[in-house]
Amino acid sequence: MKKSNEDWKESLSEEQYRILRQKNTEQAFSGEYLNNKQPGIYICAGCGNPLFSSENKFDSGSGWPSFYDSIDNRHIEKVIDKSSGMIRTEVECASCGGHLGHVFDDGPAPTGLRYCINSSSLSFESENE
Ligand code: FE
Repeated sequence: MKKSNEDWKESLSEEQYRILRQKNTEQAFSGEYLNNKQPGIYICAGCGNPLFSSENKFDSGSGWPSFYDSIDNRHIEKVIDKSSGMIRTEVECASCGGHLGHVFDDGPAPTGLRYCINSSSLSFESENE
């Protein structure tokens, strides 16, 4: 999926563009899905790719929506990120390349992973609708 920056600017909100396309991070505890406990699926706000399930969401205390697993590892891309003076693993949408957040290895069982994801990179599809 290839889109120009201009196309992305048109289809995304300013905040979504800043995060998905420019790899910024939303302010901690500010995102709309941080405390969402409804059953459903989190999809990429850029392209609709299914990324995370409410079944794998947990409260990490970090201030960002956190998941211990993705819906399908083929739907995400992990990239080494050496920005900000740290070595981290960035998580991108495998379909549109949008920046989602980072993954750390201090999460709960069974994976031990903590996907730390910006709310602005996601849209939520409730199971109740
Ligand atoms: Fe995407």
